[in-house]
Order: sequence, then structure tokens, then C-alpha cells
Amino acid sequence: MKKVLSGIQPSGKLTLGNYIGAMKNFVKLQNDYACNFMVVDLHAITVAQEPAALREQSEAVAALFVAAGIDPDKSNVYMQSHVPPHSELGWILTTLTSMGELERMTQFKDKTAGKESVGAGLFVYPSLMAADILVYNADLVPVGEDQKQHLELTRDLAGRFNHRFGEYFTIPEPYIPEVGARIMSLDDASKKMSKSNPNPGSYIALLDTPDEIRKKISRATTDSGKEVRYDPAEKPEVSNLMSIYAECSGMSLEQIRDHFEGQMYGNFKKQLAEVVVSVLEPLQNRYHEIRNSGQLHDILAKGAANAMETASRTLTDVKERMGFLLPK
Ligand code: ATP
Ligand code: MG
Repeated sequence: MKKVLSGIQPSGKLTLGNYIGAMKNFVKLQNDYACNFMVVDLHAITVAQEPAALREQSEAVAALFVAAGIDPDKSNVYMQSHVPPHSELGWILTTLTSMGELERMTQFKDKTAGKESVGAGLFVYPSLMAADILVYNADLVPVGEDQKQHLELTRDLAGRFNHRFGEYFTIPEPYIPEVGARIMSLDDASKKMSKSNPNPGSYIALLDTPDEIRKKISRATTDSGKEVRYDPAEKPEVSNLMSIYAECSGMSLEQIRDHFEGQMYGNFKKQLAEVVVSVLEPLQNRYHEIRNSGQLHDILAKGAANAMETASRTLTDVKERMGFLLPK
């Protein structure tokens, strides 16, 4: 069976962007692939995290995976830090990565713009992400559009290792949705929706209450026109809201345009809020059930134990190929 790997950082409250761009596809893929879905806590610490918040968010992300429909009997759900080979292979791949490659990463540029002090972890994070994928020899990586460049680096690193030390790594393919690959901020359609954005009005959190969702959507920026029409260049805000509508309702962009023909933005936004609530309310109910049930720690322990089997084998193979003296 082919392998899938993906992860989400516990760096804040998960957003509708994370759900549409990534998690929804995790759920789709789990029937046809052997899947590993991680809470990537080692990535989250590339920016400062408050310890109590990191712990809470880590548990929340794990519970949201299950609430979104990931079945822990089919897929491994676990914490990245519970599987130490990630860190070790991450270091090894860092030594194969050039400074120039990392300097070209647009996400690094975006996340550091205007900052005086930037942690080195944020700079080398793409090598750790490459390790996350290669440590399982994953075939397919479901991610949002913003991760495409990191995945290209992963492919290059896999090829570089194979060239220097003999064919070993599978070259992974990205799996990026056509609609919803890049959900934009509600307050600024030139930026992607991000859970680490300090303005909560810029994103819909998966655990926002129905009233918060309604308020945020009603305040979302729109252009001064009237038409509900998909045109990312001319109407980026409305187009973004239409993508969200399409992903939450199952309707196509054309059907949405026809449905709202001749109607004002206000009405469109009202209906959009209800469509989003209808997807998030049941997810939230399942989330609370899972957190209250006390089963999360067993799910994470089982997921990590399964993942560890493959990951530690890969690490030994890699070290052997590179000439490390292995312990007897
Ligand atoms: P951070 O701001 O801390 O980086 P994030 O919202 O970007 O948070 P990540 O944990 O970095 O979340 O990404 C998790 C997954 O969600 C990745 O596959 C990423 O591509 C996807 N993703 C993140 N933001 C969006 C978005 N706005 N639209 C679609 N997919 C997204
Ligand atoms: Mg991100």
C-alpha cells in the first residue's frame, strides 16, 4: 500500500484554511493509503510558544484530527516529538541542504519580514519537514499550496541522498487540492489565512462559536462592487469567500454564482456563515466528545509506536549508507 504523510503545527488555533487545504484531504486519502498524520510540535517551536498553550494546542490538534474524520484504527495519529528519528534525520538532511536553498523559501521570507531577531530553527525548518516525509518513504503528501516549495526541496534532498549514497528514498509527490489550496485571510486577501496571525478576525478557527463565525464573515473585507463572481485577480476577497462556500457546501463555483445572481454581498455572506456553521458544528461536537472521553493518549501512543517501527528502520539504513559506525 502506498504511503501518505502530513502534519499540522500546534502553533495556534486550527483554521478553516487548515481544514480545507489539508485535513479534508487526509480524511479522503485514508481509505486508499497507509497514512501517518502528525501534530508537528517540533515545527511549532520555530516561533516562540508559551508552554501551557503549546500543550493545550497539541492536544486540541490531535483531537481535531479525529473529529474531522481521521480514523485512528486506519491511520496513525501522533505527536512528531514522540518519534525521535524525525529530529535525527532532520539534522542529517540539514547537512545536505544548502544555505541558498533555504534562503529562497518564500515562507521563511514571509514569516521573518520586518522582524529583528529570527530563530535559526525557522530557517532550517524545511530540512526537518523533508525528514518527516522521507523517514517513512512517503509517496504522497497532502498539503496546501503554501507548502509546495518545501516539498520541492524534499524531492531535491531525496534525489541528492540517492545520488550520493545509493538509491534509497522514494521521491514524494505533493497532493494539493484544486479549489481551497490557499484560503486567504478575511481581512486581507493578499495573505493566506494563518493560525499564527495575531488578528483573530483574519481567520475562522475550527472551534469558533457559530456567533463568532457569523461575526467574522460579516466583517470580512469585500470590494465595493456587487456581483458574486469568481475572479481572483479583480475580486480576490469575494473569490476567496466563494472558495470557502464551495468547499463547505459541495457546490461548484458556477452554481454559487448562479445562485447569488442579482443578490447583494450581505445576503451571500449570511448564507456563507450558515454553510460554514453547518460543517463546523458537528465537527465541534465530536471534538468535545473525544476530549472528554480520555482516549486521546492511547490513540497517540499507538500511532507513535507504529510510526516508530518504520522511522527507526529508515534512520539505521540512512546512517549505514552514510558511513556512521553503528552500535553493536
Ligand atoms: P502557521 O501560521 O503557524 O504556519 P498555518 O495556518 O500555516 O500556521 P501549518 O501548520 O503551517 O498551518 O500548516 C498545516 C497545513 O495546512 C499545511 O498543509 C498547509 O499547507 C495548510 N494550510 C495552512 N494555511 C492554509 C490556507 N490558508 N489555505 C489552505 N491550506 C492551508
Ligand atoms: Mg504554516
